[in-house]
Amino acid sequence: FPQAFNIMQNLSNSISTLYHNNVFVKSIFELFDLKSSLKEYENPLPIPSDNEIDLELKNVSFIYPHAEKNTLTNISLKMPAGKIIAVVGSNGAGKSTLIKLLCRLYDPTSGSVNLNHTDIKSFKIADYQKQICAVFQDFGKYNVTVAENIRFGDIHSHREQVDIVDAAKNSGADIFIDKFPQKYETTMGRIFEEGHEVSIGQWQKLAIARAFYSNSRFVVLDEATSALDAHAEKELFDSFRKRIGNRAALIISHRQSAVKHADYIYMLSEGEISESGTHEELVKLKGNYYHLFNENLTTD
Ligand code: ADP
Repeated sequence: FPQAFNIMQNLSNSISTLYHNNVFVKSIFELFDLKSSLKEYENPLPIPSDNEIDLELKNVSFIYPHAEKNTLTNISLKMPAGKIIAVVGSNGAGKSTLIKLLCRLYDPTSGSVNLNHTDIKSFKIADYQKQICAVFQDFGKYNVTVAENIRFGDIHSHREQVDIVDAAKNSGADIFIDKFPQKYETTMGRIFEEGHEVSIGQWQKLAIARAFYSNSRFVVLDEATSALDAHAEKELFDSFRKRIGNRAALIISHRQSAVKHADYIYMLSEGEISESGTHEELVKLKGNYYHLFNENLTTD
């Protein structure tokens, strides 16, 4: 456990850089150790201010630098405003890569990622990345206070504490936060020092609270509920749906319980979309989706 704490300290050092830059997605660069080779468009467009904005991958193929074959081939997928879509597939199918393209950490080798029909390359990278809140499986473990953890990347905002508490309530994190010595002002590292344990499920609820708090138009949850039991996951999902408004969400998971309530599901197999539809449609199809979740599969 001391080793785990060191890792957190290191992470927390890189967080101060993040706070300094105040750009949330920069942290993904740090975590994935990516150096952006992306080019800024010379005359960038402003992000559309429409109430409803959609994100769409259009015939996207992608090959990693120095790789021998495509990781993604001819992917077309839409994240409509107000909807929750899911991408499922086994390990190595290309799910994380798809997220990296959505967050514009890489550009597609061919095809495009479009925001309301405009290629995202036309926007300033930072402007675009601010539209996305990505929650990764292992993303909540920072040695900062609970409140800072939830408003991550948003320190200059003048939003009220009540927003933070509200976000925590919606993810179910408020129940354990209320038991911490200084509640929302408790430093996460101190909880460890004092011998308390924060479970993975609790970290994940904190990370989801961050998604609830953020004003980003697009929310991406990458295996973000993997440590929750099916009941807690369903509660969180229902709460998420109530709050989604005009945002669009994408859930990545290999668990049926996490994706079955999505509005639309894409099955990714070896970098290609092999099937898509609602849970019921895909179950009836008895194809890859059906076989991925062969055990305990129900249509209700
Ligand atoms: P998933 O998230 O579905 O498990 P990934 O997107 O992580 O799949 O990986 C898809 C494929 O891309 C795998 O074959 C993996 O080895 C390859 N891949 C992932 N990252 C890189 C990289 N940085 N360079 C080269 N190949 C990679």
